[in-house]
Amino acid sequence: MLRVAIDGPGGTGKSTIAKAVAVRFGLEYIDTGAMYRAIALKSVRTGVPADDVEAVTSMLETTTIDFSDNHVYLDGEDVSGLIRTNEISMRASDISKLPVVRAKVDAVSRHIASVKSVVMEGRDICTEVLPDAEVKIFMTAAPEIRARRRYNQLLEAGKPADYDQIFDEIQKRDYQDSHRDYHPLRQAEDAEFLDTSYMTIDENIDAIAAIINEKTGNTAV
Ligand code: C5P
Repeated sequence: MLRVAIDGPGGTGKSTIAKAVAVRFGLEYIDTGAMYRAIALKSVRTGVPADDVEAVTSMLETTTIDFSDNHVYLDGEDVSGLIRTNEISMRASDISKLPVVRAKVDAVSRHIASVKSVVMEGRDICTEVLPDAEVKIFMTAAPEIRARRRYNQLLEAGKPADYDQIFDEIQKRDYQDSHRDYHPLRQAEDAEFLDTSYMTIDENIDAIAAIINEKTGNTAV
């Protein structure tokens, strides 16, 4: 079994890089943020406020979440195409503060990692979800650069984009994710630090492949 754990703030390119690393090393890719986003979507749909612990707890009692083949399933429905909005990003950051929500996502994530070799990305994978992972990486990039990448992605997709607004949202989510009481975003002491600000996607993938190779002797398939 090989478990590659990658943490870092939003907009760092973790998903793109982790997917490519999964293909190169024959691993299952697990996007834990997508699961928080799916729970956030359900709370929006059902009108359950993100800070109402009791209401969220009872919502979760009748909620199933799963992640496979790059798709996230909410109560059996593939919601992958519905969760990449600003509203859901902020709601996910709000609702993921609750321990009861984190327990739900952690259980699904740990179960998958117990039956498959994975590359799993999120905020607390190295610190809480898979502290014994063979490879642990903390990936980050300057907020201005993350905002610029996101801005360019939106423009390329023909969608409206406001750089200042994107920058503000990135900063707000960074702050909220790293200052919550329970399982905040932080670098694990034994995680490799990777600043991708001035790396191309290929350089970033190669840097991670080199770390995997160094830690495990595993060379790409
Ligand atoms: O990675 P992504 O931007 O999709 O994550 C959405 C939100 O879910 C994050 O802003 C964070 O609040 C939460 N999250 C988390 N722990 C993880 C992954 C995501 O708290 N392991």
